[in-house]
Amino acid sequence: MDERPTPSAAERERAARIVAILRELYPDAKCSLDFSTPLELLVATMLSAQCTDERVNMVTKSLFKKYRSAEDYASANPEELEQDVKQTGFYRNKAKHIREASALISERYGGEVPRTMEELTTLPGVARKTANVVMGNAYGVVEGVVVDTHVGRIARRLGLTASDDPVKVEQDLMALLPQSDWLDLSHMLIMHGRMICQARKPLCAECALAPLCPTARATLGQLDGGSETPAEASRTRRSARGA
Ligand code: SF4
Repeated sequence: MDERPTPSAAERERAARIVAILRELYPDAKCSLDFSTPLELLVATMLSAQCTDERVNMVTKSLFKKYRSAEDYASANPEELEQDVKQTGFYRNKAKHIREASALISERYGGEVPRTMEELTTLPGVARKTANVVMGNAYGVVEGVVVDTHVGRIARRLGLTASDDPVKVEQDLMALLPQSDWLDLSHMLIMHGRMICQARKPLCAECALAPLCPTARATLGQLDGGSETPAEASRTRRSARGA
C-alpha cells in the first residue's frame, strides 16, 4: 500500500524535466541483457543479481545454446547447471532458483513464462524487480519501475525519493512520473549510473542533471535550483572555480 503523500505539481514538473534531459542524453537506452525469448530474459535477470550484465551476457551465450526450454533447466543435473552459471557468483542459489522456477513454469504454465506480476512473483527467486524486467522488456507490459542499485542510488541523490527500500523507491517514482516513462526511466538511470553518477564518486561537474540535483547543489554549491541550463551551470561552476 502506497502511503506516500501525492507529489506536488512542482515535484512532478521537476521529475519530468529530469526525464526529458535523460532522454536527450540516452536516446537509445535499453535493457543491456542479451535475450531472444522471455525465458532467456528471466534466466539472465536471475543471474544478474550481484553481477554485471556484461558477465551475464558472456555466460548466457553458451548457456542459452545448451538449455532451450523450461523443461531443459528443470531436468538439468544440479551440479552441472551450477558449473554452467558459476561465473556469475552466488551460483548455487541461482542454479537452484532457475531449476525450481523452470519446473513451475513447465508444470503450471505449459512451459511459457507467465506475464503477470502476481504469477511471476510466485516463482522461486523472482521478486518484483525481476518480474518488472521480464514483463516490461519481454512482453511490453509495464506495471512498475525496475529499481536496482543504480536506480535507487540516483533517485535518492536526485531527491526523487528518500527511501532505501526498493519497493518504496519504486512507489515514489511511480507517483512522480507517468506510466509511459517507467520502463525507459530505469534503463536511462542505469546508463547514467554507469557513466556519470557512479556509486563511489558522482561526476557532478560533468552532469547535465546538476541544475536539478540537490546532491550537486550540496557538492558543487553554486547552482540555483534549476533555472540554469546544464551549459550555463557548467559555466557558473567554472567561473566559481576561477577558471
Ligand atoms: S548531479 Fe551528481 S549526484 Fe546529481 S545526478 Fe548528476 S552525478 Fe548524480
